[in-house]
Amino acid sequence: MTKYVYLFTEGNGNMRELLGGKGANLAEMTNIGLPVPQGFTISTEACTKYYEDGRQINDEIMSQVMEYIVKLEEITGKKFGDLENPLLVSVRSGARASMPGMMDTILNLGLNEQVVDVIATKSGNPRWAWDCYRRFIQMYSDVVMEVGKKYFEELIDKMKADRGVTQDVELTADDLKELASQFKAEYKAKIGSDFPTDPKEQLVGAIKAVFRSWDNPRANVYRRDNDIPYSWGTAVNVQSMAFGNMGDDCGTGVAFTRDPATGEKGLFGEFLTNAQGEDVVAGVRTPMKIAEMEQKFPEAFAQFVTVCETLEKHYRDMQDMEFTVEHGKLYMLQTRNGKRTAQAAMKIACDLVDEGMRTPEEAVAMIDPRNLDTLLHPQFDPAALKAAEAIGKGLGASPGAACGKIVFTADDAVAWHDRGEKVVLVRLETSPEDITGMKAAEGILTVRGGMTSHAAVVARGMGECCVSGCGEIAMDEANKKFTLAGKTFQEGDIISLDGSTGKIYDGAIPQVDADPNNGYFGRIMKWADEFKRLEVRTNADTPNDAKKARELGAEGIGLCRTEHMFFGEGRIDAFREMICSDTVEEREAALEVILPMQQSDFEALYEALEGHPVTIRFLDPPLHEFVPTEEADIKALADKKGKSVEDIKTLIASLHEFNPMMGHRGCRLAVTYPEIAKMQTRAVIRAAINVNAKHPDWNVTPEIMIPLVCEIKELVNVKKVVVAVADEEIKAAGVDMGYKVGTMIEIPRAALTADEIAKEAEFFCFGTNDLTQMTFGFSRDDAGKFLTAYYESKIFESDPFARLDQNGVGKLMKMAIENGKAVRPDLHLGICGEHGGDPTSVEFCDEIGLDYVSCSPFRVPIARLAAAQAAIKHKA
Ligand code: PEP
Ligand code: MG
Repeated sequence: MTKYVYLFTEGNGNMRELLGGKGANLAEMTNIGLPVPQGFTISTEACTKYYEDGRQINDEIMSQVMEYIVKLEEITGKKFGDLENPLLVSVRSGARASMPGMMDTILNLGLNEQVVDVIATKSGNPRWAWDCYRRFIQMYSDVVMEVGKKYFEELIDKMKADRGVTQDVELTADDLKELASQFKAEYKAKIGSDFPTDPKEQLVGAIKAVFRSWDNPRANVYRRDNDIPYSWGTAVNVQSMAFGNMGDDCGTGVAFTRDPATGEKGLFGEFLTNAQGEDVVAGVRTPMKIAEMEQKFPEAFAQFVTVCETLEKHYRDMQDMEFTVEHGKLYMLQTRNGKRTAQAAMKIACDLVDEGMRTPEEAVAMIDPRNLDTLLHPQFDPAALKAAEAIGKGLGASPGAACGKIVFTADDAVAWHDRGEKVVLVRLETSPEDITGMKAAEGILTVRGGMTSHAAVVARGMGECCVSGCGEIAMDEANKKFTLAGKTFQEGDIISLDGSTGKIYDGAIPQVDADPNNGYFGRIMKWADEFKRLEVRTNADTPNDAKKARELGAEGIGLCRTEHMFFGEGRIDAFREMICSDTVEEREAALEVILPMQQSDFEALYEALEGHPVTIRFLDPPLHEFVPTEEADIKALADKKGKSVEDIKTLIASLHEFNPMMGHRGCRLAVTYPEIAKMQTRAVIRAAINVNAKHPDWNVTPEIMIPLVCEIKELVNVKKVVVAVADEEIKAAGVDMGYKVGTMIEIPRAALTADEIAKEAEFFCFGTNDLTQMTFGFSRDDAGKFLTAYYESKIFESDPFARLDQNGVGKLMKMAIENGKAVRPDLHLGICGEHGGDPTSVEFCDEIGLDYVSCSPFRVPIARLAAAQAAIKHKA
C-alpha cells in the first residue's frame, strides 16, 4: 500500500519530491525543535494519482486523510467540529519548487455557526471568532469554489461605509457576524447550495482545490518559464491554526533573513498586529517594519531572531519565513530559501562563502543562471513594473526593458532615432532588411515568430529587448496602427516592453540602469570559470558584438553568420549585383567587389578576438532573402546591371521557393555557385594571414564551417574548393598557417551519417535550430502559432526551439558524437543553435561530452554559469 500522508514528525527536509518544499520544511522545522503548529502533508504522489484517476481522490487516499485527521486530533487534543475543543486548520499547496500562481492558503477551516459560537464563548473574544469565520467563508468561496474575491470585498466596503469606519479592525463582532451571513448568502446565490458546514467536507473540497490549482493556466505558464515538469504535482499541507487575529497581543508577519532586493544581511520584513495571513501582503493596513516588532513583542521577537539564525545556519541560505504570534507566543508557519533579485543572489552567495557557510562550488550552484539576464540589460524600476498592468503578452524573446514611441517600419525607426526619439519597432515579423531599424529601436515587438524567428535571434545577438509572436495584436501595417486589448495604437504612441516576461505595457515605465560588473558578479563568474569544463563561445558577426561577448567572458566565436555581414551600408547593393548575375564571369566580377569587404570584416573579428578561435560559417540563407522588394531598389539594381526592370523582376521571381528553409541554401549554394565559397575562403585566409603578420603570437588558425550538409559528397565537393583556394593563398603568401574545415550538423541525415562525414570534417558544430526544425518537421518561424495549443494540450511542456529536446534531437546528437568520434577521436564538438545559451540545454551538452557551447553575447555569462553548474553536478 502506498503511503500518501505524512505527519510533520514523519518527514524531513530531504523529502521535497514527496512532500513539496513547504511540507518538507515544516517537517524539518519540527525535527529541529522549532515551534511549528502540527499537521500533516498529503504527498505529491497523491496529486499525481488524482490526475491519473481522472481528477478523483481515490478511496485509499481519502481513508489515509481521514486516519491522519484522527492522528492530528490526538496530537492537538482538539477535534474537527467539536463543540468543546474544536480543531481548526489551514490548508496550503506546496510543490517541490515554490510556485506562484497555484492555490495558496485557506485559513480557519473547520468553522461553522456552532463552532464559531463555541470559540467565541471559550475565548471570550466573539470579535475574533466571527472575524475567523467571515475570512474562512471568503477564502473558501474564492479559492475552492472560484467565486470572485471582489463580491466579498464589496460587501466589506459597504459594511465599513455603513458603519462610518475605514479599517477592517474597526468592525465589531456584530458587524462581522452580519458580514458572515451576508457572505453565506452571496455563496448560495453564486453556487446554488448552502455553504458547507461539515469540516470534513470542507477539507476534501480544499484538498481538491489544491490539486486542481496545479493545472490552472497561471501555474502552467509559470512551470513552462521555470523548467518545472508537470509530472511533479503538488503536495497539500494541513496544519492546525495559530491565530494572529485574537487581539493586540497577537499578529502575523513575513520576514527574510537578508534583504531580497540587495542581499544585505539583516532581518527584513513586515509585521501586523491583530491580523491573519494574507493581511500583511494584501495592503489593507500598513504593516510595521519587522524591527518595530521588538517594542511590542519583545519576547516573541527575541525568539524569532534566534529562530532566524537557526534556520539560516541550518539551510545555509537566506530564508523567507511566515510566522504568527498568538498571545505573545511565536509559531513558525513556513520557511523556504527566499526568492531574490540577481544582484542579491550574487551578494548573498559571496557573503555565505565569506561567512564560512558555503564553498565557492556551492555558491556557484546556488545562482539561477536565468536570473543573470537582469544584470545585463537595462531594467524597469521594479516598483513601477509591479504597479503596471500588462495589456498583452508575447514571447520573452530577448531580455531587457524597452520603452519608446511606436514606429511601424525600419526606415521610420532610423529616421525617428536620428532625430533623437526613442522608438519601439512594431512589425508583423522582421526580415533582414529591417536590421538597421531594429538597431535604432529600443525594442522590437512582432506579431508573428517564435524564439528562433529572425527578430528573436537578431535581437538577442544585439542584446536588444524583443517580444515576439504576440498573436493578440490585430495589425494594420499599411495604416500604421494596431489594436491590442481593445485599444488602437498609432504611430508615436508610447509603449513599454519587458523582454524577459514578454509583457507589453501601455505608456512609459521608468527604467533603472543595471550594473553587471559589480564585485560579486565578477567573483561568482571567476569561480564559475574555474569549475566549468565546457568552453563558452559566442555567436557574433560584427566586431562590436564580438568585443561585447569578450567582455562578458566569451572564449571564442563559435558561429559567425557571414550573411549578416552583407546588410550594412553599401554591402547589400554589391551582394544584390552578385545574386542577379547571369553568368559565372558576371558573378565573379561582383564577388571581386565583395571580397575586400569580407576580408576586412574578418580581420576586424580576428582583431577583436585577440587570438581566440573564430569559426566562420559560409553563406547559409536562400538568396531570395537578399533581393530588393521596393520598386526603387529594383530600379537602381536594374540600372547598375544595365538590365531592364522586367528582367530583374523575372530573375527575382525565379528565386522564389515554396519551402525556402528546405530550399536553395547552406552548402547547396556553394555547390551551385562555387565562386561564392572561393571568395569567402580567400577572404578568411587572407584576413588570418594579415592578422598573424601583425600579431605573430596570436597564431590565428582559421576555422571554416560548411552549413547544412546532409551527404558526405556535398562536403567533399565544397571542401575541395575551400582547400584549393586556401592552399593557393597560403602558398602565395609564403606563410606556414594551418586551417580547419568542419561542418554544421543540422540536418538529421548528417547526424545519421556522422561516421562518414567525420572522415572529412575536423569539427562538428550542432546547428540545433535547424536540427530541431527538421527533426520535428516544425518551421522555426511559424511553430509559435500552434505551440500554445500544444502546451495547453500537454503535448509539449516547453518550446523545443528554446529548450533542447533531449529525447529526440538529443538522441541524434549523441549518435553523431559516438559515430563521429569512432572515426576521428579528436573530433572537436560544439553547439551554436539558440540552445547553446539555455541552462538546461547547456547541462545536456556537458553530459554528452561537447567541447564548447556558443550563444549570443548577452547569454555568455548565463552559459558560463550553467556550464559550471553542470560540471559541478556531473562531478558529484
Ligand atoms: C542552427 O541552425 O542551429 C544555426 C545555428 O544556424 P542558423 O540559425 O543560422 O540557421
Ligand atoms: Mg542553421
